[in-house]
Amino acid sequence: MARIFNFYAGPATLPLSTLEFARAELLDWEGTGTSVMETSHRSKEYDEVHNEAIALFTELLGLDDDHQVLFMQGGASSQFAFLPLNFILPGGSADYINTGTWSQKAIKEANIIAKCRVAGSSEDDGFTRIPSMTELDLDPNAAYVHFTSNNTIKGTQFHEFPDTDDVPMVADMSSDILWRPFDANKFGMIYAGAQKNIGPSGVTVVIIKKSWLEKANSNLPTMFQYATHSAKNSLYNTAPTFAIYMVRNVLRWVKENGGLSGMEKRNRDKADRLYGVMRSFPDFYTCPVEEASRSVMNVVFRLPNEELEAKFVSEAKADSMVGLKGHRSVGGCRASIYNAMEPAGVEHLAKFMEAFAKNNS
Ligand SMILES: *Cc1c(COP(=O)(O)O)cnc(C)c1O
Repeated sequence: MARIFNFYAGPATLPLSTLEFARAELLDWEGTGTSVMETSHRSKEYDEVHNEAIALFTELLGLDDDHQVLFMQGGASSQFAFLPLNFILPGGSADYINTGTWSQKAIKEANIIAKCRVAGSSEDDGFTRIPSMTELDLDPNAAYVHFTSNNTIKGTQFHEFPDTDDVPMVADMSSDILWRPFDANKFGMIYAGAQKNIGPSGVTVVIIKKSWLEKANSNLPTMFQYATHSAKNSLYNTAPTFAIYMVRNVLRWVKENGGLSGMEKRNRDKADRLYGVMRSFPDFYTCPVEEASRSVMNVVFRLPNEELEAKFVSEAKADSMVGLKGHRSVGGCRASIYNAMEPAGVEHLAKFMEAFAKNNS
């Protein structure tokens, strides 16, 4: 079988065992004689998958009784609007930390719906760093403070979270949820499109603080209210059942592989290997991101010129590695090395980078 090493930013590679598991029972799921994707979302069999996925999230993140896991649709991009719709009440405003593309999109939606303040930004530095916590100008009356924990495109990541006191903290963790242990109970809300770190596209995970949800705007279309999904355990309407089934498989895999501390060790080793290659060839590979803000999930780098970058991407493809081209808005190269990327894939890339630098310097 020819499985390549897939460095796409999202949808991204999934653990091979989770795909094999799904394949083995695709036509006859747990002896039902049908597949999970052909089964009613109201069936007892599906309900077990749904609740196991929620239970695994709860366990892996150590969620308390006040935090609930929801499965929604419309991607992280819909959350950019649902969040202010639900939580910025008339006359209120919310604080946003601007670290580039995804936070800018979130800010744009919040400004359509209500009012938001930019409480910190690294725009003047081309978003090549995460603003330091002391730079933030937080409003104690804000409805919430929103940030993007990992900028998938620029390759920057929050390595510590802001201290927002009593103001609920909200994070778009689409590209780094479950990459390491952290205190999820400190958050008012966390959301993540599944297609980077936890499954296929089509489902968006939302972790919400129930006592905060009680204060949300209820004068909204039914499907736009978090309260609807909360009250119905994410089964108000037809859930994206196959995507949730795959998320369940991935969460089982995370648990079997040491949980979040296992993921952290695996991820740090992989990222260290790639940043290490860049340090060994400083005249050939440059990382545009300030050292302290470098992402463990999306490693971005430049080569001496665009011709070499194109050559790098095409030779890598011939050597079983895809998805290494940087986002179209920034150019350069990017290796997305989420939880599921095998250490062997990173080792293959690191060796390729070393040889490519030697052959083209
Ligand atoms: C990919 C990504 C998004 C967009 O997610 P969709 O599910 O496509 O809407 C939002 N935020 C971040 C940080 C992302 O990486």
